[in-house]
Amino acid sequence: MQFKSLPQLLDYFKEESTGIAYYENIRWGSIPACPHCGSVNPYKTNRGWKCSDKDCHKKFTVRVGSIRKL
Ligand SMILES: [Zn+2]
Repeated sequence: MQFKSLPQLLDYFKEESTGIAYYENIRWGSIPACPHCGSVNPYKTNRGWKCSDKDCHKKFTVRVGSIRKL
């Protein structure tokens, strides 16, 4: 997709679900990893993701540490 202007880009990311899907895509492809323990088997909730590791079990979104770690 091509953007001709910054406002157009911001308009695109204004839609929350679109932005999340975008970050999921560039960071993990289709399989996210837990930023707390590294488990790669989280399950999706309506607000984001939840780690399936029984010792961790933390909720996270794709934004947790996503930019700074790169
Ligand atoms: Zn975890």
